[in-house]
Parts: sequence; C-alpha cells; structure tokens
Amino acid sequence: MLRRWLFADQLGPHFLDDRHQPLLLIESKAVFRRRAFHRQKAHLVLSALRHRAAELGDQALHLRAETYREALVRVREPVEVNHPTSRRARDLVRSLGRVTVLPPRGFVTAIEDFTAWADERRGTIRLDDFYRYARRHHRVLLDGDEPVGGRWSLDAENRQPPPKRSGPLDVPPPPMPEEDDIDAEVRHDLDRWAAEGIRFVGRDGPRLFPATRTEATTRLHHFLRHRLPKFGPYENAMVTTDPFMAHSLLSSSFNLGLLDPMEAIRGAEEAYHTGHAPLPSVEGFVRQLLGWRDFVWHLYWYFEVGHRRSDGVGARRSVPSWFADLDADSVRARCLSDVLAGVRDRGWVHHTPRLMVLNNYAMQRGWRPSELVDWFHRSFVDGYEWAMTANVVGMSQYADLGQMSTKPYAASGEYVNRVSDYCGGCPYDPKGRHGENACPYTGGYWVFLDRTRERLPSTARMARSLRQLDQLDDLPVIKEQERRRGSQAP
Ligand SMILES: Cc1cc2nc3c(=O)[nH]c(=O)nc-3n(C[C@H](O)[C@H](O)[C@H](O)COP(=O)(O)OP(=O)(O)OC[C@H]3O[C@@H](n4cnc5c(N)ncnc54)[C@H](O)[C@@H]3O)c2cc1C
Ligand code: SF4
Repeated sequence: MLRRWLFADQLGPHFLDDRHQPLLLIESKAVFRRRAFHRQKAHLVLSALRHRAAELGDQALHLRAETYREALVRVREPVEVNHPTSRRARDLVRSLGRVTVLPPRGFVTAIEDFTAWADERRGTIRLDDFYRYARRHHRVLLDGDEPVGGRWSLDAENRQPPPKRSGPLDVPPPPMPEEDDIDAEVRHDLDRWAAEGIRFVGRDGPRLFPATRTEATTRLHHFLRHRLPKFGPYENAMVTTDPFMAHSLLSSSFNLGLLDPMEAIRGAEEAYHTGHAPLPSVEGFVRQLLGWRDFVWHLYWYFEVGHRRSDGVGARRSVPSWFADLDADSVRARCLSDVLAGVRDRGWVHHTPRLMVLNNYAMQRGWRPSELVDWFHRSFVDGYEWAMTANVVGMSQYADLGQMSTKPYAASGEYVNRVSDYCGGCPYDPKGRHGENACPYTGGYWVFLDRTRERLPSTARMARSLRQLDQLDDLPVIKEQERRRGSQAP
C-alpha cells in the first residue's frame, strides 16, 4: 500500500482519504539550518508536527533526520504526497522519482480553475475580479447569482478608525493554547540546537498559536461566535494596547493545514444567516480568506519564478540589521517600534502593521524586495514562501509595477495617524515634513513619490498625489533630510 507523506503544513484531516492508510511525517533539521527562523515559528511548526505524530500513533512513521532525502532512504514502501506548497519542495519530491504527487489541498479554488480564469484576463489580474469569480464558483454569500445584500464588497463600511476610548477593543480575547509535554520537548530541542549554532530570531515565549486541530477549531468557533461581529469595522485599525483587535489569529492554523479554509468560510456564512454577525464583518472575513488567501496562493504558481526577484521601483538598499534582527528598542518612531516589538515577541502582527508600517517604511527607504521576502518568510509564525510573491513583491513593494495591484501602498504619517493611536505618544509629528520632529513616514512618502514618479501608475489618485508633490516648495529640504536619515533606525 502507498504510504502518504504529510509535510508539516498538511496536518489536518482534509489531507487524508483513508483512515487506515500508512502515513509518513518527517522532521528535517536542515530546514532550520538554512534560515534563521523566528524562535516561536520553529516551535509552532515542530510542535504541530509532533502533536500530529502523537495523535496518529502507529498509523504514522515519524522520522527525524538531517534532510528529507536521508529520511526517505528509511522508507520501504512507495510514497505519495499532496502537492507541496513551495517550488523547492515540489522540485525535491519530483526529483525523488519514487514519489507520486497528488493535487494540492488546503485552498479553495483548484489551480486549473484559477489558471483558466487568469488566462481569460490576459494580464489584468485583480483581486476584486477574482473574488467575485470565487464567490460565484463556490456559491458563497450569494442570493441567486448576485451577492447577498446587493454589493460584492462592503469595505467602505469596514474602515473605521480605532475607537476614541483608549484601551483594548471590547471583544473577548482569543482562547490561548495550553502547552504540554510535547511543547516542553520542543523547547528543550530548540535550546540544544541554538547551543549547537542554529540561529533563531525573535524571543521565545509561551506558544500563542494552535498546534493541534482541537486547538485550532476551538479558536475558530470562538472567533465566529464572539469576535467576528467586530472584525469588519476595525479591520484596518491599529491600537497600541491591543495587537489582536478582532482578528481571527488563524492564519498559522490554515497554513499548517489544521483548518480547511472552507469550513471557516461556511461558518462565517452561517453566523450571518443566524444573525450572530453583521454582513460587513462576514463579507470582510470571507474576502480575506476566499479572496486574498487563495489569490496570493495562485499567483505564486501563476507568475514566473523570476517574479520573486522583481525590482521595478529600483530598490537597491540592504535591509538594515536593526530591522532584520527585530531591534525594536533602537527605534523611537512609536508605530514602527511597537510593530517591530510585536514581531519580536509574538512572530505575528495583523495585516495593517505589516502593510502600512513595516512594508511602507521598507518601500520608502528602497530596501530590496528579495531580502524582505526572506525576512517575512522567516519572522512570522504564518510566513510561507507562497504568501510572499503577492503580499510582499506585488502588493507591498509594488516591485512588479502593478501586475496584481493598482497602486503602491505608500502612505505618510498622516495616514498612520488616521488609522491608529500611535502618533499621540510619538516624538515625531505626523504632519511635519522637515525639522527635528518631522515624521520619517511623511518625509519618506514624498521622497518615495519623487524618486519613483516615472514608474507610478497613471491613475487619477496618483495624479492627485503627484500634483501635491509638485506644489511642495520644501521638497529639496525634505530630500536632504531623508538622505541623511537613510536606513538608520528612526
Ligand atoms: C507584507 C505582508 C506579508 C504577509 N505575509 C503573510 C504570510 O506569510 N502568511 C499569511 O498567511 N498571511 C500573510 N499576510 C496576510 C495577513 O497579514 C495575515 O494573513 C493576517 O494578518 C493573519 O492574521 P489573522 O489570522 O488574524 O487574519 P485575519 O485578519 O483574521 O484574516 C483572516 C484570514 O484571511 C487570510 N488572509 C488575509 N489576508 C491575506 C493575505 N493578504 N494573504 C494571505 N492570506 C490572507 C489569512 O488566512 C487570515 O487568517 C501578509 C500580509 C502582508 C501585508
Ligand atoms: S508620528 Fe510618524 S513615526 Fe510617529 S507614530 Fe506617527 S506615523 Fe509613526
């Protein structure tokens, strides 16, 4: 009988077909030698794999080896595997000769369906269009053939600033996992590996993200019942005292394969139909999961291999060490310091800090997209290569000059001030363009527009920003100030 190999991101029941099929789980130490992963990410992945091995008992052969190849030498039966999620792993399984590769799982839309959809668009590939297609194709939140409520996107209702009252959002916190003996063993092994010279980044800490299906479904059901109603309005807001807001904190669970995205999508739909959550929140969540998550997965395979190394806006500076090493204490800018500390302490911050604080700063300063891809992959508990092409290269850095997005996500400190409570307690002034207290995001924004104007899209919105740029009589002073600041910690 064929033995099914489960990679460490294929751990849920939807990666199996037969309760009695022999299984294979492999822990490769070389994976951790290759890159300096966040310590909590290394812990989560190993903990999830070992918990799955313990659950499966005799059904699974659990091997620990230096490399996958070395482990496979010890397996006698022919092996099959669901399509891996990275090119490197796909090339490995193909090169082994004796491994049958099955179609991918863990995403909603099939690769052939996406390819047919994208080929029809002849190069104009946009999330909104794909999202409509996916809603219709999988019959999600539909009334006949039209969207429930009459509109495909309720984003306009979902852009509220943080509540005026300071302090955490008024939602019950997500249930946290309890560590057990397997976690203790993982921590011990990682300490040993670190002593042997394997490098990690970030701080160790209690495990915050689910490592088993039970932990993941508990968090999902709690989210659908108690947190989803507030998800929409504050989706984009950032609050210093509340890193989680009403986000689901489930990305690592989907990406480890503990949860099937469709079960969460149907659960959110049900929460709407039973009156537990309003439509804008439900639609907002479905757009993230059915829209964005599937979209970025497919673009990873659809775009050429070279897309990862795109550098359309001419970003040639190296990522500085204070950023790479998560040295939040060296940063005075309150937004960036808080977000970098969140990555250091948890390996997770929500979408807006990733896009508008970390990436916005990197793009303004001209840091190399390929180095950022590596940094995001290593530093986040949910970081996977398939998520990088679109999220980092395409959306955040605009390095592919608009193959998947209509504009670069560049913004000044005034934007950060609108969507967060950061600026009040910051030594910089979000409106200040130059001078000692000038916000580095505001100065950086104008310099970015000036530097890249020839490569920016010719949309009405961009034209408005460029007209404002042309009216700045202090541009030379701002440029000189930002040249002096360079990539130092602001
Ligand atoms: C620069 C950058 C890098 C990112 N890298 C990753 C990554 O490596 N892995 C990853 O899973 N997400 C990534 N994201 C997307 C997003 O930030 C995280 O999925 C989200 O913050 C995880 O928190 P959550 O589970 O509470 O999400 P929620 O806000 O609750 O959203 C629900 C779910 O939607 C999915 N989702 C939403 N947006 C995206 C997106 N753009 N891409 C993929 N899935 C999405 C996630 O599975 C998430 O769990 C990245 C975003 C940016 C801007
Ligand atoms: S003033 Fe500028 S640096 Fe300070 S928190 Fe606001 S956006 Fe960030």
